[in-house]
Amino acid sequence: MSPSMTVTETRTDEQRVDGLIDDLLQQHPPASTTAVELLGAQFDRGLAWVHFPEGHGGLCFSPRLQTRINERVLTAGGPYAYYRNPIGYGMCGPTVVEWGSEAQKRRYLRPLFTGEEIWCQLFSEPGAGSDFAGLSAKAVRDGDEWVINGQKVWTTLAHVSKWGLLVVRTDPEAVKHAGLTAFVVDMEAPGVDVRPLRQMTGEAEFNEVYFTDVRIPASELLGQPGDGWRVSLTTLMNERVSIGGAVAPRGSGPIAAALALWKALPEWRQDPASRDELMKLWIRSEVGRLTNVRAAQNRKVGVPGPEGSTGKLAFAEVNKDVYELCVELMGADGMLYGSYEMVRPEKAMGADTLQKAFLRSRANSIEGGTSEVMRSILGERVLGLPGDVRVDRDRPWSQVPRS
Ligand SMILES: Cc1cc2nc3c(=O)[nH]c(=O)nc-3n(C[C@H](O)[C@H](O)[C@H](O)COP(=O)(O)OP(=O)(O)OC[C@H]3O[C@@H](n4cnc5c(N)ncnc54)[C@H](O)[C@@H]3O)c2cc1C
Repeated sequence: MSPSMTVTETRTDEQRVDGLIDDLLQQHPPASTTAVELLGAQFDRGLAWVHFPEGHGGLCFSPRLQTRINERVLTAGGPYAYYRNPIGYGMCGPTVVEWGSEAQKRRYLRPLFTGEEIWCQLFSEPGAGSDFAGLSAKAVRDGDEWVINGQKVWTTLAHVSKWGLLVVRTDPEAVKHAGLTAFVVDMEAPGVDVRPLRQMTGEAEFNEVYFTDVRIPASELLGQPGDGWRVSLTTLMNERVSIGGAVAPRGSGPIAAALALWKALPEWRQDPASRDELMKLWIRSEVGRLTNVRAAQNRKVGVPGPEGSTGKLAFAEVNKDVYELCVELMGADGMLYGSYEMVRPEKAMGADTLQKAFLRSRANSIEGGTSEVMRSILGERVLGLPGDVRVDRDRPWSQVPRS
């Protein structure tokens, strides 16, 4: 699929999708089918990412139809690929289909969708988060292979991943954005060392990943050497929509939990001030939801644009505020916490209690790009305001001072 690929949507597409879902659910009833089998059959019918090309999990239809598919499969009791493989489904799949070779698309997309092979995103480094293009991990070509050395950090689900989407520096003499290259790396390859990083929830859902002389075949490049920045933009644009772009039913999700807590309060605690706060948050949640509905309707092509930053920013801020209100409404109970014992979850972003959801939500305005960076993107790319100060833009990366 080329970056300029457009997709169409007609009434016939909608009917065809409905027919395919009927057939999927009839042939593979969720109650008696394993998740892997059902998701595999969903992929084979082009209902995995409906805007992808035929043969690669899609039908070249509008991405808008995916919400319809997901809702129907979920309502029938079926699995959702995102929950099983969030980084893979939301970000790595769209990047592979945009930049991968035919062989890579055939090899990776199906098991990624079924959750048989989990993926992680190896972008951030200790010295390169918001300024991700300044990263230092490097790859040097050696015959038909590239040799990787360096460190990545905050790598969600690296401990359960089979594949990683890795961006490293291949040309230190080029300006920082131009010297990057993207690869698919086997997380079980010799020289890959995954170490847990513990969060304040007690869990370690993310990791440090060290690469020591790790060899990657040249066939595992995504795009060409030097394309790494453009490849990353595909991932990052999809990440924002993946984190903040979900269209949930009205009044559902975190705000539903806050409303339920408020309703259960004794009358003397249902004071006007907390009701006011709850109403404000309900309205912000609904405005965010409607903004996402509009963005989804407007999306005609596979790769989302900077409008994804609006949803990501709004989601992060409202989510944090709603969970803060929840623990406030819980009173002293809000301070109770089951256990801080370190666990290595198989899934990311999970929270089985409101207290844990409150702690986990603090990361929302950091992961996938901080709220400050989202505001800069909106200012520059949506509102057309003057750009951030970038003193290193025109200097070779090797000449940029760094600590
Ligand atoms: C839960 C979680 C999961 C994550 N998962 C992954 C993952 O799977 N893979 C991965 O590669 N990364 C992952 N990350 C890393 C994440 O992308 C980075 O943490 C994020 O981009 C910020 O980078 P940083 O932590 O280095 O902070 P910094 O970039 O050092 O930022 C520090 C502070 O400075 C502010 N700041 C920085 N630059 C600017 C600017 N130009 N203008 C205004 N303010 C600025 C930031 O907003 C922030 O407040 C994850 C992070 C979290 C919290």
